[in-house]
Amino acid sequence: MATGKINVSVENIFPLIKKFLYSDHEIFLRELISNATDATLKLKHLTSIGEAKVEYGNPQIEIKIDKEGKKLHIVDQGLGMTADEVKKYINEVAFSGAEEFLDKYKDSAKDSGIIGHFGLGFYSAFMVADKVEIITKSFKDEPAAHWTCDGSPEFTLEESDKTERGTEIVLHIAEDSTEFLEDARIRELLVKYNKFMPVPIKFGTKTETLPKPEGAKEEDPAPTQEVDDIINNPNPAWTKQPSELEDEDYKSFYRELYPMQFEEPLFNIHLNVDYPFNLTGILYFPKLSNDMTLQKDRIQLYQNQVFVTDNVEGIVPEFLTMLKGVIDSPDIPLNVSRSYLQADGAVKKISSYITRKVADKLSSLFKNNREDFEAKWNDIKVVIEYGMLSEDKFFEKAEKFALYPTVDGDFMTFEELEAKIKEKQTDKDEKLVILYASDKEAQHSYIEAAKGKGYEVLLLDSPIVPHLMQKLETSKENISFARVDADHIDNLIKKEDTAISKLSDEEKEQLKTSIEGTLKDQGYTVQMEAMDSEAAPFIITEPEFMRRMKE
Ligand code: ADP
Ligand code: MG
Repeated sequence: MATGKINVSVENIFPLIKKFLYSDHEIFLRELISNATDATLKLKHLTSIGEAKVEYGNPQIEIKIDKEGKKLHIVDQGLGMTADEVKKYINEVAFSGAEEFLDKYKDSAKDSGIIGHFGLGFYSAFMVADKVEIITKSFKDEPAAHWTCDGSPEFTLEESDKTERGTEIVLHIAEDSTEFLEDARIRELLVKYNKFMPVPIKFGTKTETLPKPEGAKEEDPAPTQEVDDIINNPNPAWTKQPSELEDEDYKSFYRELYPMQFEEPLFNIHLNVDYPFNLTGILYFPKLSNDMTLQKDRIQLYQNQVFVTDNVEGIVPEFLTMLKGVIDSPDIPLNVSRSYLQADGAVKKISSYITRKVADKLSSLFKNNREDFEAKWNDIKVVIEYGMLSEDKFFEKAEKFALYPTVDGDFMTFEELEAKIKEKQTDKDEKLVILYASDKEAQHSYIEAAKGKGYEVLLLDSPIVPHLMQKLETSKENISFARVDADHIDNLIKKEDTAISKLSDEEKEQLKTSIEGTLKDQGYTVQMEAMDSEAAPFIITEPEFMRRMKE
């Protein structure tokens, strides 16, 4: 038997990284801006603990396109690198300077927001560039360095005359990636990935209109000035404490998040935990009734303010994917498959935390302002009913605030409903029979007849409700649901004097046979003497199970 060591040489691994590391080439910009952000945050931290004795100032990150030269520049004013650091951090593939930093400053820097992780992000530059330069000047008193690499494992490193602190990355964009020299494409990427990153990002300038000077004439144009176009909001609402925010702040953040969405959200839920995992975020309940098709504005997942994805499947329970908003957590493992995510312990905890927070919020809305909760019910019921159906933990909590509307527009909780119908609506087996209509117009005469008998009739018309009824019937032994036109409603109904009861037995039989003749083979039953109403002297019913089968 022979044993040995597999020899991984950079020559082999480099093209692999280029090709397979990231399926999405566009993320190179996110990675480079993340590094520029890390460099800035590291400097911030070092100045704050007195280890870097330089002026931190108001650093920003600038993105510049040089169309003629076919170059893209990413310039930061962060801590920079010495020549030795370039050798250490850049030339060693898969060695993360970010992890090293967090390790070294474990106690003081754990909330610094440093993004880097795997020590591979930088190399994503080679997915779109065939040559990359780094020109960098450390905050330390050492000469600037200039590193150049054309994508082969060979590089050059020489001194540079750069004088300002920070790093400039120059990408020589490859022939097949010239889209990244287009203003509009870069702006699109900045808005998608970097809109809420913590360091201001400049991309060109924009014209700002100033107020007219005093005494200006009507026809005088307002004065303008060119200002830096900062594409991001470095302090998005979710990074603040709930106590710092007013209702209006939440609404304006919603508009910032979804500029094309004109409908206001119904309410929001601010998420904020740091143990046993780190997670912040704001979730919004949208007006679903007007928005069933507009599902493109989804919950966005961030990691330290860097956009990761808007596919939160596996992280948020399915019934909550109808909500909108953001979740930010450094604890969600990224770049891994969805099925892995679902099995991950931390992710499971996150999912159940979110479920609990949503249930608690709904419960407090219900308790604090029931009238308002009732007014919102139509917009939120689908989410709640779906949640009750799919998550037992949610079901337990939601049972106390889930509402059952009557055909007359009153709302009852299940407990209130039970108390109200206990006396009248039990069948011969002492089972509570809950009557409901699914279509007020079509079932009008049945509804009227049942109400005439003093029964409560619910209006349950959402698509999920048939399934929820089944769940309630199995989880509570002593109840059954029956639609107002179903057959076992007659178990409840006493025979009384009606127009039909005045007919002789023979006449009734004749009438019944003739009606049944016209409805032949459709599974309906015709009942005489069942109703106490001139409008519906007899009823035609269909077994509840037959009807559910058709749905
Ligand atoms: P990671 O960010 O996961 O650490 P990267 O491959 O993205 O890995 O970057 C490797 C290292 O190179 C960083 O950790 C950092 O030390 C250094 N680096 C990259 N970009 C910059 C920059 N703009 N300024 C200073 N250092 C940088
Ligand atoms: Mg990085």
